[in-house]
Amino acid sequence: MSPTVLKSPTEIEIMDQANRIIRTILRDLGAIVRPGVTTLEMDRFAEDRIREGGGVPAFKGYPHRNDGRDFPGTICSSVNSEVVHGVPSDNVRLDEGDIVSVDLGVRYKGYFGDSAETFAVGTVSEEAARLLQVTREALSRGVAQVRPDGRVSDIGHAVQSYVEGNGFSVVREFVGHGIGSELHEEPQVPNFGKPGRGTRLAPGMVLAIEPMVNAGGPEVMISADDGWTARTRDGSLSAHYEVSVAVTETGYRVLGDPAPGKE
Ligand code: MG
Ligand code: MG
Repeated sequence: MSPTVLKSPTEIEIMDQANRIIRTILRDLGAIVRPGVTTLEMDRFAEDRIREGGGVPAFKGYPHRNDGRDFPGTICSSVNSEVVHGVPSDNVRLDEGDIVSVDLGVRYKGYFGDSAETFAVGTVSEEAARLLQVTREALSRGVAQVRPDGRVSDIGHAVQSYVEGNGFSVVREFVGHGIGSELHEEPQVPNFGKPGRGTRLAPGMVLAIEPMVNAGGPEVMISADDGWTARTRDGSLSAHYEVSVAVTETGYRVLGDPAPGKE
């Protein structure tokens, strides 16, 4: 992972634009997600829209950590018990009642944006609806911890406390991260831990904060078939939301967000 880099206001503006491209595509994907749509159709839609916007898909060709199976998709599409890194496929057709997490990364003018959202397909179970709501709120609570002189573990502590207080669990194997001219920079941003630890936050840092929340236990396993798809070990549902957040002089700014935060 590349070291932590402070970004200039100009760089943060470019990253805001990168994330704006992503937020718009996620919003539009939310409108086309319905029973019968395949995750490969969603992938094609996202790739076309990124390229129209002058960006490049950030995940496509991302190197696998063990072998030559680079990530083939523009989006990661993770359905139901899949946590993250699901591979888009014309064999994966969404059904009524599914949930699908879409993670989307873009490189734009040399900088990265990274954001994710979980969508309900038609009408979902009460448990699934609550999982989405709790994960979304956990993200908000994590983001609300971002401030200059705050510590990176304040974020994870807020996420974990809220999630576990609602009877769900947070994934340990995957974490948020710094982001900039590299997709993954220091510091790592876990979704768990004691407060007041780790990297001290400073204006100009940009963090991708991304709680992954399981309805059952926190354990995950990686698919041997594609080497990428992480799913819950107990088969329970999982949700994932992510935003890229800049540390400002007085608080934070959610990049690409029309209601950008506390500055
Ligand atoms: Mg992401
Ligand atoms: Mg990320």
